[in-house]
Amino acid sequence: PEDVTTLDGVNKLNELIDTDKFDLKHPFWDKISLFYGDITKINVDAIVNAANAGLGGGGGVDGAIHRAAGYNQLQAECRKHDRPVATGQAVITDACKLSTHVKKIIHCVGPICYGGVTSKKRHELESCYRRAIELSEEIGLRSIAFCCISTGIYGYDNKDAAKSVIKILYKHLSKEENVEKWDRIVLCLFMDIDKQCYKHYITQLIRNP
Ligand code: ADP
Repeated sequence: PEDVTTLDGVNKLNELIDTDKFDLKHPFWDKISLFYGDITKINVDAIVNAANAGLGGGGGVDGAIHRAAGYNQLQAECRKHDRPVATGQAVITDACKLSTHVKKIIHCVGPICYGGVTSKKRHELESCYRRAIELSEEIGLRSIAFCCISTGIYGYDNKDAAKSVIKILYKHLSKEENVEKWDRIVLCLFMDIDKQCYKHYITQLIRNP
C-alpha cells in the first residue's frame, strides 16, 4: 500500500471519506481486505450474495453463487425463508456445495437505484451491510466476504456505495466489543470501476490488501 502519511494519499481519502470521522490507527483497518475476483473462491465463514427479493436466483453474483453452491440445493435453502425479503434486509442460508470452508451464505436485498442515490436508497444499502454483520455475529462467524451489493444490475453509483460501505462497517466495527468478534472482512471487487474506487481511495488505509 501507498504511504498513508503522504499528502497525496490523504487528499484522495478526503474525496471519499471524511477523515475527521475515522481513526486511521484503529484496529478496524487491520481486519479489512480487498479481494479482486470471484467471491465463490474466497475461504471465509460467510459470503454475501446480492439477492433479489424473491431469492429465486438470478444473474451476476447471484448466478455465480447459485452455480457454485448448487442451484437446487441453494434454492431449497432459500425457500425456507419468508419471501419477498424487504429491501435492506438479509437472510442467512447454508452454503451447500460451496467450498468446505464457507459455512453460510447471507442473501442481502439491496435497493434498485436508477436516477440517483437518495437518502432512502443509501439507508437501504447500508442496512444490508449492517444486517449481514449482525446475522454473522449472532451465530459466531468470524470472517465474511461482501460483494458490491446493488452496484451491478441494480445500478447503484459505485463511488457512493463504496463510501457507504466503509462508513457503515467502521461505524459498527470501530466499537471495541464488535471489532474483537472479527478476524477478517473482505470486500470482494469484481468490476473495474469498483476496483478503481476502492483502490484509489482506500488501499492506503488497509494493511492487508
Ligand atoms: P445487483 O443486482 O445487486 O446490482 P449484481 O450481481 O448485478 O447485483 O452485481 C453486484 C456486484 O457483484 C457487482 O459489483 C458485480 O460486478 C459483482 N459480481 C458479479 N459476479 C461476481 C462474482 N462472481 N464474484 C464477485 N462479485 C461479482
